[in-house]
Amino acid sequence: MTYQSVNPSDGEILKTFPELTDQQLEAAIATAAACFQAWRGKTYAERATVVAKAAAILHARADELARHATVEMGKRIGEARGEVEFSSNILAYYAKNAERFLAPLKLHPTLGEAHMESSPIGVVFCVEPWNFPYYQLARVAGPHLMAGNVVMVKHAACVPQCAIAFEELWSDAGAPPGLYTNLLISHAQADRVVDDPRIKGVALTGSVEAGRSIAARAGKNLKVSSMELGGSDAFIVLEDADLDHTIKWAVWGRMYNAGQTCCAAKRFIVVDRLADRFLEKFQVALRALRAGDPMDEKTTLGPLSTESALVDLLKQVDRAVAKGARLVMGGKRIDRPGSFMQPTILTDIAPDNPAFREEFFGPVALFFRVEDEEAAIALANDSDFGLGGSVFTRDVARGKRVASRVDTGMMFINNISWSDAEFPFGGIKNSGYGRELGDMGIQEFVNKKLVRVGYMDAPV
Ligand code: NAP
Repeated sequence: MTYQSVNPSDGEILKTFPELTDQQLEAAIATAAACFQAWRGKTYAERATVVAKAAAILHARADELARHATVEMGKRIGEARGEVEFSSNILAYYAKNAERFLAPLKLHPTLGEAHMESSPIGVVFCVEPWNFPYYQLARVAGPHLMAGNVVMVKHAACVPQCAIAFEELWSDAGAPPGLYTNLLISHAQADRVVDDPRIKGVALTGSVEAGRSIAARAGKNLKVSSMELGGSDAFIVLEDADLDHTIKWAVWGRMYNAGQTCCAAKRFIVVDRLADRFLEKFQVALRALRAGDPMDEKTTLGPLSTESALVDLLKQVDRAVAKGARLVMGGKRIDRPGSFMQPTILTDIAPDNPAFREEFFGPVALFFRVEDEEAAIALANDSDFGLGGSVFTRDVARGKRVASRVDTGMMFINNISWSDAEFPFGGIKNSGYGRELGDMGIQEFVNKKLVRVGYMDAPV
């Protein structure tokens, strides 16, 4: 049984769900394809009625949906509630702004007149990860449904209750059957969905391996795709940073969601003059976190999403140490029931240590000491990933200069406020391609069509 809810804070198996049969999958695709034919003809105002209603229901159900996330993947309840509210805001934002983003664009030819128009392309298949079990869904549903597409989602195997609750939202909001479909399907079935000619676009958020597999499949079928993959974001601290301000972001940036965020701060690159003080204060702050039931508002350190995620991360830390890294703190599971890991810092990670290039998806910080700003930029760019990053300095102009030279899709100066309904989110290199959210995100799965008008004579 692939789809299973297991509470990572105590290991209890809560529920299992059967996968769809091939016949059920075929019927779901047929319903979605038929829905598109009607939905594409709706006005923005008609689409907005459904999407805004879904936003309102999401807001009204925030407590209930947050609980599903907490028991299925261990997110602390306050973070889970915040995620549901943010997802509601995203839906509301696209209900209100999609028409503006997709309005016809007038061009200025020397002869006649011309414009670009944006039309929907059809059924978009989205493969999504467990770490933000609602936000990831809102990120595709809000923009793409408002653009006139319909959406089918394969969510991660460990969050079926979140996936089903999000699907229910749409029928309760009055969506026609097939507008938003959750698919409890295997990887092999997912491949066949990508192959299906009724599917016109493919979006994946997840690991590099999953991205390679699904992007290759989409490419073979000549289908447009967007890939939001892993990251190993640099957190650059220059010698003029406000240390107390910086430490708070360092802790939040690494530890939010128990460290399981694609664009979390993962590599802490600190200029020598501040390095010792930073490392000392960072340890003190991390030691103050208290593991506990993620349902308890007072808990400051939740479990990892699954037992296998914990076991894999512990092995990854052991491998890093075996290859020469030094464990400054943590590195072990916490002695209590559930899949909890100690906040961990590794230093002395040489470029030939595999850890130098890997993503650590959990509460593990890689610490690097560098001579100056130039060395910090060079190290930040010495990565196979290019998702986000941050720089801390009292000199904002200097921060902007550094941000411009770091090769990633997003940079933050003196903060790490990762995502906003209106900002494009995404990366380069192994972090993927394309953007979700913002003006760019809503354009990913639309046909940008040129229409040119002019009573011109044909050339002879
Ligand atoms: P994952 O194993 O790649 O899973 C993500 C999704 O892909 C799940 O629904 C998974 O289904 C599915 N999947 C995996 N391999 C597949 C295949 N061969 N064919 C079809 N579907 C497949 O990723 P994860 O380890 O759970 O999630 C963490 C990763 O996601 C990290 O690398 C993180 O950085 C990245 N992430 C990126 C972003 C971003 O916006 N850039 C956001 C969040 C997370 P199953 O669960 O059934 O295997």
